[in-house]
Amino acid sequence: MKIAIMGAMPEEVAPILEKLGEYSTIEYAGNKYYEATYKGVELVIAYSKIGKVFSTLTATTMIEHFGATKLLFSGVAGAISPELKVGDLIVATKLSQHDLDITAFGHPFGYVPEGAVFVEADEAMIAMSKEVATEMGKTIREGIIATGDQFVANEERKNWIGKEFGADALEMEGGSVAVVCDALSVPFFILRAISDAADMDASFSFDEFLETSAVESAEFVMKMVDRLVAA
Ligand code: SAH
Repeated sequence: MKIAIMGAMPEEVAPILEKLGEYSTIEYAGNKYYEATYKGVELVIAYSKIGKVFSTLTATTMIEHFGATKLLFSGVAGAISPELKVGDLIVATKLSQHDLDITAFGHPFGYVPEGAVFVEADEAMIAMSKEVATEMGKTIREGIIATGDQFVANEERKNWIGKEFGADALEMEGGSVAVVCDALSVPFFILRAISDAADMDASFSFDEFLETSAVESAEFVMKMVDRLVAA
């Protein structure tokens, strides 16, 4: 087993690298990858840079070049569900691409031929996350995450994504990472801590809460890793 831990931005992986303390840095395909042995298990860690293209490249590289056999994503997201507040954790049950649109040909949003509107995350890791949450005394919510190459700071767009995809949160990488892991048969787990409400105040909220929310998510993901290495 080799576990990939991925984020999109430096702030999302910094708490993980800090916890590991010792790691080696490898430069590859225009990015930095960090390798470490944690409790006897090999890890590869990286932040991809923002968006679907960079996250696709990084997830693929972690699997195809570094040999990762499981992938966990840790990061922040905008809330769609009014029940999700800043700092709350959401685990993706399935993910979609909200900006994928060939509806002109009669297809639904998020769909291209031979693809699927939703890609499902690994059930075993979702079940494990419930146990981890109980152990940590934390509440996590399961839900649908919608991904697109847009920072959504607009109530109307957010509500449309919520309605069209039944999504509870939105971000810019999960849906593409899901496609990669699904195609390469690598079980994946996508966790996000809320940084904003994807409304007109989203950029201010994001700037204010990025670091604390990223830490919330990273701490939880490392508890997941603890479970995986102990299993
Ligand atoms: N402040 C950054 C840009 C952040 S983009 C800069 O200037 O460099 C937002 C990042 O956080 C993405 O990686 C995305 O996955 C996540 N995210 C958080 N809130 C979001 C929102 N409201 N819409 C889209 N992505 C969001």
